[in-house]
Amino acid sequence: DSVFSHVVRAPEDPILGVTVAYNKDPSQVKLNLGVGAYRTEEGKPLVLNVVRKAEQQLVNDRSRVKEYLPIVGLAEFNKLSAKLILGADSPAIRENRVTTVQCLSGTGSLRVGAEFLARHYHQRTIYIPQPTWGNHPKVFTLAGLSVKSYRYYDPATRGLNFQGLLEDLGSAPAGAIVLLHACAHNPTGVDPTLQQWERIRQLMRSKGLLPFFDSAYQGFASGSLDSDAQSVRMFVADGGECFIAQSYAKNLGLYGERVGALSIVCKTADVAGRVESQVKLVIRPMYSNPPIHGASIVAAILRDRGLFNEWTFELKAMADRIISMRQKLFDALRARGTPGDWSHIIKQIGMFTFTGLNPQQVAFMTKDYHIYMTSDGRISMAGLSSKTVPHLADAIHAAVT
Ligand code: PMP
Repeated sequence: DSVFSHVVRAPEDPILGVTVAYNKDPSQVKLNLGVGAYRTEEGKPLVLNVVRKAEQQLVNDRSRVKEYLPIVGLAEFNKLSAKLILGADSPAIRENRVTTVQCLSGTGSLRVGAEFLARHYHQRTIYIPQPTWGNHPKVFTLAGLSVKSYRYYDPATRGLNFQGLLEDLGSAPAGAIVLLHACAHNPTGVDPTLQQWERIRQLMRSKGLLPFFDSAYQGFASGSLDSDAQSVRMFVADGGECFIAQSYAKNLGLYGERVGALSIVCKTADVAGRVESQVKLVIRPMYSNPPIHGASIVAAILRDRGLFNEWTFELKAMADRIISMRQKLFDALRARGTPGDWSHIIKQIGMFTFTGLNPQQVAFMTKDYHIYMTSDGRISMAGLSSKTVPHLADAIHAAVT
């Protein structure tokens, strides 16, 4: 008998499990709108041209070796990543108040930041939006933080519950950590306006709440890297402290390369140096040091003006294709006379539409139409194409009538 015979089978991950179910379905018309990964009009994964070019450069450079990176990763990658999110002219960078460490994509950056906070910050409570990316509560709980939520989404308006958000953050204990989606909130596609961000900033700073930004979609929401970083830059411009987890999974299509960065903006260069020394103690026993390939691709693109410009074009094209899918789906439902107000499909931004479909309707669409999505009714607009929109619209129409 196995010494592991008591081990019970765990359920599939609620998001990644959607793909597992999709892969098992033999249907010709099946459609995977579960996972947040970009697809072309032909429904294929996309490797950006600029990434291919950077990889070619790396391959051609015979001086490159496979030595270990330092614990904090590739120095040039870290510097350029901070500049990308904070802006080229950021005073915090100039004053050496930012420490940036290369981590395993967005998830790894969140985890390392959270582990540091659990060890060294006086407040162990983190507030996350309701709803949020399903992995957030698990990452933060396992890092040793205690997770609470703040109101974010209003199902009635399919928009932001701004009043609820202000009330909940207003009654959070002084010093509490607050997880904020920098842009393109996942799963709702609902972001605060700049005026609302400013109110949130004032409230948080007045109560000494610590912002922890999750930036998984910079450039992917609006098509502009700078516009999508405005929320973060607002908080950094006031001179206060701030955590930022960056992912290159979506905006450079580097999903499986696991490239990301954790930046910690401190009050002084001296504090930043000491913080970094402790972050290294978090990383060393966890995975020792990060992988070299993906970070080298990113550094090659960020350092070169020509490649950087090419990237911004390719990024804009991805964002625009997603935005056009919103319009197409909205028009298709209109054309079918589908009951209900579907304007949130064109109002929400980023990779996802939070359709408002309930778990029964989702189950129906999967069973009868072979369309796969998370049970909360979230669909990845990046997985749609002109060819598949009619099928999705038919399924939604049938589900709600
Ligand atoms: N945060 C949010 C809000 C996300 O949507 C994702 C990806 N689905 C991540 C973080 C992390 O992704 P990754 O670890 O692949 O960078």
